[in-house]
Amino acid sequence: MARNRVQFQKGLSEADFDKSYGTEEQCHAALVAWRWPAGFECPDCCGHNHCVVTRQARRLFQCNACRKQTSVKAGTIFASSKLPLRLWFKAIYHVMQSKKGISSIELGRQLGVTQTAAWMMKHKLGQVMLERNASKRLKGFVQMDDAYIGGAHPGRRGAAQAAGRLLLRPSPRPRTASPIRSSCGASRRSVNSRSANSPVRR
Ligand SMILES: [Zn+2]
Repeated sequence: MARNRVQFQKGLSEADFDKSYGTEEQCHAALVAWRWPAGFECPDCCGHNHCVVTRQARRLFQCNACRKQTSVKAGTIFASSKLPLRLWFKAIYHVMQSKKGISSIELGRQLGVTQTAAWMMKHKLGQVMLERNASKRLKGFVQMDDAYIGGAHPGRRGAAQAAGRLLLRPSPRPRTASPIRSSCGASRRSVNSRSANSPVRR
């Protein structure tokens, strides 16, 4: 039986994540690169020449032209948070990696922060994902598959538990691609000319 390419797609392992974003320095450098891919740009005068001012644990970028000081976290969900970027990045990793979602209690355990802090992080991350995706509507060829609705059920665990339940997940596969066989042998149904919100039953 052919392997399910969606289920076996390569992801970012925790070891690889730690290698890339395991320290505060790495996370700060990554955020600077994402925010200013062409180099620092002053939010006031758009100048590029700057110096870095360190105030205790804070690193501020000071524009050489207008002397405006700004942080790479200003205007982001990381602003006004006392939690280090390293924990924020780890929270993003856990929220993204968990297929069925992660509770704030579990996230707090993983990060070593209180449930309240973990809930706040989850809430902010969910809000930015919502705002980013709000303007995007699914169109064209949309395949719905492999997501879980509702809480845990007793009995079989994992994907085997999902038989007969509603599964939803948009999958960006090309229109010409043939359907992938599921583990039970039935081909997964493609949604073509169907509303993006229509549930598909396996
Ligand atoms: Zn400036």
